[in-house]
Amino acid sequence: MQLSRFVVPYRNVRPGEHILYSVLDDRYVGVDDAALRALSRWQTESAAADEREAQEALVAEGFLVADRAEDDERLRAHLEKASQGVPGTMFVTLMPTLQCNLACNYCFQKEHPAFTKMSSPTEDATLEWILRTVDERALRKLHVHYFGGEPTTRKDYCLRTAEILSASMAARGGEFSWEMTTNGVLLDVEFAVAMRRYGDGIFKITLDGDKETHDRERIYRDGRGTFETIFANVVELVRAGVRVRIGGNFFPDQLASFERLLERLEQAGVAGLLEGVKFKPIVDTQKYGVGTCTGCSSKQEAQTLVQLNKNIERRGMALKQHQGETLESLLGPCELHWKNNYTIDPDGHVYKCPAVAGLPQMAVTQVAEKQGEKIAPLVELRPWEQCGDCSYMPVCVGGCLGGEFLKTGRTDKVHCKKEIFEKSFRETVVRRYLAEFYEGEQVNQAA
Ligand code: SF4
Ligand code: SF4
Repeated sequence: MQLSRFVVPYRNVRPGEHILYSVLDDRYVGVDDAALRALSRWQTESAAADEREAQEALVAEGFLVADRAEDDERLRAHLEKASQGVPGTMFVTLMPTLQCNLACNYCFQKEHPAFTKMSSPTEDATLEWILRTVDERALRKLHVHYFGGEPTTRKDYCLRTAEILSASMAARGGEFSWEMTTNGVLLDVEFAVAMRRYGDGIFKITLDGDKETHDRERIYRDGRGTFETIFANVVELVRAGVRVRIGGNFFPDQLASFERLLERLEQAGVAGLLEGVKFKPIVDTQKYGVGTCTGCSSKQEAQTLVQLNKNIERRGMALKQHQGETLESLLGPCELHWKNNYTIDPDGHVYKCPAVAGLPQMAVTQVAEKQGEKIAPLVELRPWEQCGDCSYMPVCVGGCLGGEFLKTGRTDKVHCKKEIFEKSFRETVVRRYLAEFYEGEQVNQAA
């Protein structure tokens, strides 16, 4: 018997007490010194009579495996399950336009603004493609993520497509839901309420720190800051019962500024009304400045991230789960690896990852095409096979391959976030364990 390679030990979380954490099952168990020592002995010897019960429990819970082949098989089954995403659900990121009403300093489009908008024939072909795919795969739920450019510069498109998709899913006995990533400048309650008529939905709005920091980065084309407008819109929307999540992109030295933003949200009395707050490091897309990442962090700014997450949790502002999300979907490999997940750009090219939208050579098909899709260029070379026995493979699978491509132009390299995983998993798992078994006690961070 051997410890599964997907189990990470956290030693001495209390004197003489250690945690074994299974990344594959998101499960933990506490063991004492004797059990920890026995683990290495059991690789070559049978368990002693008084150890058998403990060994059997660890086997039953997947912490111990017979051999490497058993781990390989469990990983294969886990990734197969993860590739279903949220079972029975089709996810589509729709880009009605690449146009944006702002000129944020870190945005790659600032110097070369894009104006592409989805044409009416492409819009029709897109809706047809989505519904055909839903039917072919017998999916019951459709979740559309409106993304850009800035989707609120095309409110007409959002309302029209939501109405059609909502009615079409209802006619099939299914459900339609949506989310919208927006800078929040043009958002108003009237539009939000109109969207909600077509299905449950949520707005994801970006605030990059406090007013001072945000207004250095997120500016109108004439250079004015946007913080006060967006903040006022957020307050008005959440008070009207609209579902809003706050996101933000930080540089490693901006911890204090993001902390001040959290404080201001609390002072405005809206912290408890939000669907949650999530910050991530600014994505470096220097080489191919084309796409935008919706879900990844491309720098290892682990320490700031861990600290911000702690502050968010302490204030009770962590993300609430919403429709289409399960714990598995938040912990597992990103949507690039999900079978029923696509991004469609304004020209109707279909991708598996939003970061490469706008680069037709990275597309898997086109909405007007009737034949099937090709394998996504980002996964074709299976770069994660270089990762060997990494414990984080079940949740990572090579990391943000879209972000790595944007940065390096290569599809044969992983984007390793191991440092972030090591720090944030340890932090979270130890906290969960102590909260469950020793409420109120402090974490001993000694490794
Ligand atoms: S590869 Fe990166 S940008 Fe693409 S879906 Fe995954 S996390 Fe998002
Ligand atoms: S990219 Fe890094 S963290 Fe991810 S599986 Fe590979 S080695 Fe592990």
